[in-house]
Amino acid sequence: MAREKKTGNDRLDAVVASAQRSRAQREAGYREQAIKLYPWVCGRCSREFTRANLHELTVHHRDHNHDNNPPDGSNWELLCLYCHDNEHARYLDQPAAGSGTSGRDGPQTSHKALAGLADLLKKKDQ
Ligand SMILES: [Zn+2]
Ligand SMILES: [Zn+2]
Repeated sequence: MAREKKTGNDRLDAVVASAQRSRAQREAGYREQAIKLYPWVCGRCSREFTRANLHELTVHHRDHNHDNNPPDGSNWELLCLYCHDNEHARYLDQPAAGSGTSGRDGPQTSHKALAGLADLLKKKDQ
């Protein structure tokens, strides 16, 4: 008499869980996402990339907020290492406009930018 009704809940749970999992992966792997989304070309110098040198292509966050990763990629820009360093150097040079503490890009990035610059200078020297 008491027929068990088949519920779709288990299935739904699984779908939700997998959606959450893939969202976490997407947030962690925004570089991969951006690389799937955009052509492998530097947004500044138009240098083209292949699988061989793809590691030199980096994802820049247009608003410099690495936590802002909309799935449509609107905050991402693919830049080569040099243009990316350049972009951040320029950004750091400018006095923070307006609202003080916001818009920080994190200490790691500036450190990386400096290292890249030193590298660049060394190469130019030879
Ligand atoms: Zn470039
Ligand atoms: Zn950047």
